[in-house]
Amino acid sequence: MRYVSTRGQAPVLGFEDTMLTGLARDGGLYVPETVPVLQAGEIAALAGLPYEEVAHRIMWPFVSEAFAEDDFAAMIARAYAGFGHAARAPLVQIGPGHHLLELFHGPTLAFKDFAMQLIGQMFEHVLTRRGDRVTIVGATSGDTGSAAIEAFRGLDAVDVFILYPHGRVSEVQRRQMTTPSEANVHALALAGHFDDCQARVKDMFNDFPFRDRVGLAGVNSINFARVLAQVVYYFTSAVSLGAPHRPVSFTVPTGNFGDVFAGHIAKRMGLPIEKLVVATNQNDILHRCLTTGEYRPGEVTPSISPSMDIQVSSNFERALHLAYDGDGAAVAQLLEELKSGGFTVSQGALQALREVYVSGRASEEETSETIRETLGTTGETLCPHSAVGVRVARDHLGATPMVTLATAHPAKFPDAVEAATGRRPGLPPRMADLFDREERTTRVENDLAAVEAVIEERRAA
Ligand SMILES: *Cc1c(COP(=O)(O)O)cnc(C)c1O
Repeated sequence: MRYVSTRGQAPVLGFEDTMLTGLARDGGLYVPETVPVLQAGEIAALAGLPYEEVAHRIMWPFVSEAFAEDDFAAMIARAYAGFGHAARAPLVQIGPGHHLLELFHGPTLAFKDFAMQLIGQMFEHVLTRRGDRVTIVGATSGDTGSAAIEAFRGLDAVDVFILYPHGRVSEVQRRQMTTPSEANVHALALAGHFDDCQARVKDMFNDFPFRDRVGLAGVNSINFARVLAQVVYYFTSAVSLGAPHRPVSFTVPTGNFGDVFAGHIAKRMGLPIEKLVVATNQNDILHRCLTTGEYRPGEVTPSISPSMDIQVSSNFERALHLAYDGDGAAVAQLLEELKSGGFTVSQGALQALREVYVSGRASEEETSETIRETLGTTGETLCPHSAVGVRVARDHLGATPMVTLATAHPAKFPDAVEAATGRRPGLPPRMADLFDREERTTRVENDLAAVEAVIEERRAA
């Protein structure tokens, strides 16, 4: 499998280099040159298999040139061994034709563990084989950072630096990043928003001398390996609801568009997905863009679902690349226009996007109300992100089963849940001592040189 940049000007790479590189050198994102299509019989044969076995079958065509098959199976086994649920991604029904896909049974209680735990295993394998060492830098609105630190803590070949917006992540998220004591993991509290963190990471990747000096690697959702790992649970859940014989729809609480784009890949692989519903909070640039074709970032308004508080959604570029039929020059042009305020998607591309995606938004009040109502009608406690999804999904229920992705455990966002329900959700027992552990963090200015200086100083020589 070969991987090309969405902007068409970077070298074509295999899986291993795509994973290690993260952002392409032309500023674009790597995507597979072609997507393998599974036959209906192959999809039907996934029914009842362990999550790990489905993961192996779905991902193998994308990675087969990088790994021996036994090694890959062992990486998958290790990646999901630390999950707190035997099904890994269990489905729970919350209403007629409406199901919740619980993606929060990993070590940091959010769906990002699915990809990050596997990426940790794949990086370790590849770097050990190469006798190499890298510096992983990532931006987080809360969940990516803790998932990355959890996945890489204590590994020999990697230093990890995570930029998070100071004062804008929940206490549980912050503690998950600041309490691991391993010397190779570093939480950096940046004076700014998540978009600032993300912009500084992009700047570092575009500073080629720095990038080469420290061996920069990225594990943000721009890394295609992450998207790939997230394709798997679309298959496990759809198959348990009757796919490929019965189509299934999904609603995905969306920020950086990585999770929902994984659904798009699943659809291209042959999974019969009827609707892919993009659910946003009040930071609704994606909903507005899919409605009007105008992509114009405004100010971020902090919400009770902070992991979706974004105005620049990196992975949307991958959907644009498909909508523009792989025309890298057209995508590069749009992203150039974004620098001066925004862009308008062409009629043809907008139509292509709408063939795959529909969208909706939930206000803060609707989100709280949904947490309260769902607890009352089902006994399930939703995190605010999942509640955005459940709310938006209601407008799309029908004969086709709807799966809403529950992206985090409610205990990661206890204040919002308590405000909605009057009850404070508790951490699972395996994490109960989180508030007693010692924290370690470094404050940094929202300035490229300052961030780079900290990284050069702290990374192991
Ligand atoms: C990251 C995250 C999201 C958004 O996912 P994207 O892939 O960025 O769209 C939604 N909910 C939670 C809890 C998250 O951590």
